[in-house]
Amino acid sequence: MNRILSAVLLSFCLLPRTAGAQAGASDPASLRREIEAAHPDPARAVTLKSVKLNAGLARLTLEDGVLLPVTAVGGKTVELVFLGKGRIAIEPPDAVEAGQLDLFTGAPKLDEELTEMVLVLGLDAAVDTILKKPRAEPLDAALARRAEEVYTKWKGSPERKLLNIDGAVLKDVAGDTSSQGFFAAWFKGTELGEFLYLVEPGSQEQVTLGHFVPLEATEKEKRKILRQLGREQRRGRLIGVELEDLGQWDTWLSASLQGKDGSAVPGRAAFEPQKYTLEISIAEKDLRLSGRARLDLKPAVRGSRAVDLTLNSDLEVRRVTDGSRSELFFHRQGRDLTVLLPRAPADEETVSLTVEYSGSLVEKQSGRFALLDTLEWYPHAGTADRAPYDVTFRWPRRLDLVSCGRRVEGGEGSDGLRWERRVLDIPTAGFAFEIGRYRVETTRAGHVDIRLAFDPDVSGMGKEARQEIAKTVGDSLVYFEELFGPYPLDELTVVTVPRDFSQAMLGFVTLSSVMMADLGVWNLFFGLEDRRTVIAHEVAHQWWGHMVGWESYRDQWISEAMANYASLLYGRNKLDKKDRFGLGPTSGWQETLTDTTEDGRAIESLGPVVLGTRLFSSRSGNAYQAIVYHKGAVLLDMLSKSLGEENFPKVLRQVVKVSANRAISTEDFPFHHRTGHLGRPRSVRRPVHLRHRSPGGLLQLSFRARGRGQVEGPGRGPPAGAVPVPLQGGEDGRRLRRGPRAARPD
Ligand SMILES: [Zn+2]
Repeated sequence: MNRILSAVLLSFCLLPRTAGAQAGASDPASLRREIEAAHPDPARAVTLKSVKLNAGLARLTLEDGVLLPVTAVGGKTVELVFLGKGRIAIEPPDAVEAGQLDLFTGAPKLDEELTEMVLVLGLDAAVDTILKKPRAEPLDAALARRAEEVYTKWKGSPERKLLNIDGAVLKDVAGDTSSQGFFAAWFKGTELGEFLYLVEPGSQEQVTLGHFVPLEATEKEKRKILRQLGREQRRGRLIGVELEDLGQWDTWLSASLQGKDGSAVPGRAAFEPQKYTLEISIAEKDLRLSGRARLDLKPAVRGSRAVDLTLNSDLEVRRVTDGSRSELFFHRQGRDLTVLLPRAPADEETVSLTVEYSGSLVEKQSGRFALLDTLEWYPHAGTADRAPYDVTFRWPRRLDLVSCGRRVEGGEGSDGLRWERRVLDIPTAGFAFEIGRYRVETTRAGHVDIRLAFDPDVSGMGKEARQEIAKTVGDSLVYFEELFGPYPLDELTVVTVPRDFSQAMLGFVTLSSVMMADLGVWNLFFGLEDRRTVIAHEVAHQWWGHMVGWESYRDQWISEAMANYASLLYGRNKLDKKDRFGLGPTSGWQETLTDTTEDGRAIESLGPVVLGTRLFSSRSGNAYQAIVYHKGAVLLDMLSKSLGEENFPKVLRQVVKVSANRAISTEDFPFHHRTGHLGRPRSVRRPVHLRHRSPGGLLQLSFRARGRGQVEGPGRGPPAGAVPVPLQGGEDGRRLRRGPRAARPD
């Protein structure tokens, strides 16, 4: 997905609670009030000397100081303030993480002296042990005051909101067994200043170390931002956002927990969606969106009763009910929506949740319309989050609505609204729509009916522009079917939208109307890409991103790099570039990669492709685009040259076939490159990770598709495939000709 991400933020389990504790914790609303009212309790302070705590990958030592527990919630102490001398040490699990730690802290390992900390500890046994230490009596009044200050600051901090600490504490004290492995800590270090460390059992990578960098702005800029915030908030947007919340989260280290043998043991969300059934109404007058989203969920973690959902923070949740229409307790923090079930479901039991919500999410400006959030306009659940959809829309008659899915029925209701029910049977990662005034045209490419909806801006570019867009959609679809195999649907809807990014969903492509402009020679001046390769990139996502998904953010580069590489091929093999001045998909890659950050580092050195969206950091706003899109595509182009350009698509076609409707990881991609680093552009060292080689001059590229991203029944092994690839110029199968001499794509 070619989406511009704003700050993408992140959002110990041993003892099951006793029956008594659970009975006391049965009212989540009163628990939440206790969390809100919590404060350090000097009367229960203890003195600590050389206490060691292991949390995930961190070794924490509380060498000498006092620890003040925060008042209990549901009879349980979860938060504690430490003042004194402590230390945290973390050994990164691999070279990539060591590199990131080095980038942000100046050293490849963490070993920092601490003076203050707030701990959020789910593990009851650890808290009980620590609180048995000698009482600090009488506690120095200055220390008590300082503890109060430290805790109050932490409680009001943007980090605590962003990481939804309240939600985690609530889940823990409400007796959600899987949440008791939760650990969070705010630290003040002598060298590094303030930073955070987390162990979240429901994340694929449970361990996170990082730092929130507040927005840097002058007083004048701040006043301007405040005015903008106020304006948006009067329109029902950016609700609850304060100036202090704006900034950038830098991830210094992220990793999965490790098993005894040192292998990674990823976490996962407690529930995985099996189906989304959405009923959406757009109001006649103000285009306010009201939704009823029913999610059929399957438990993925035994014993969990908390369902974590995400929903755009400007959508207000009215109520959440279960399958028997009983109201359920929910907690909202930013885009996090935590729902507590009355009990943990049995292993094979399906849970049905209905979320009723509304908000102002359709932007309208001088006759132009755009959906403000194409992903979280309905609640999402799960780690893999691939499910079929059944969606019914109601909207004002004067407007058109286009969306994913196949129309099954529709018409006009007695309320004067148009309605349509659309279904997408293939499990997919998202469903989107757009509403507005469109000029609708249709065309056909092979077995696919293409519907194009042009907004006024693109419509006004003239017949030739519209025809070219339609032709490019059809031609690229046919070309990619030849390269990668059949497109799985018989319809494709393409809509142009006045926003600054283009995006692809399964069977539904939104094109930025800005990116559809062709200004002739001025394209170069404004850095505009040839609109034909922009379109091809989004069409290629039907295969790379949708048919073949990604397992985690570390694998998302495959989708973007493949889409960019595919559009590069389309441009090279199918387009006449005579008299055209648009840039290519990887134009200027050398410059963007060697460009330097404020502290003089080359963008390329900020990290490998597998860091994905983590490349958005306070160090650079351009690294994600440069490394994932440009370098990723250049890497694939070089690989294709070393493998033989006629062989490469065969391998890719096989990957799509075997991995269809699944998520793959970088290790499963047959061209696994160990670190993703290109090195100097002209020397590709070991670009191909060869699993094994067959005799007779054929190179066997083998790969497998992992099912971990899917909720699969036991005993279903992952499918595997292999493609024999004749060697280019090699006689005995031992050497690959290194041929990327002219690796200068357009
Ligand atoms: Zn993309």
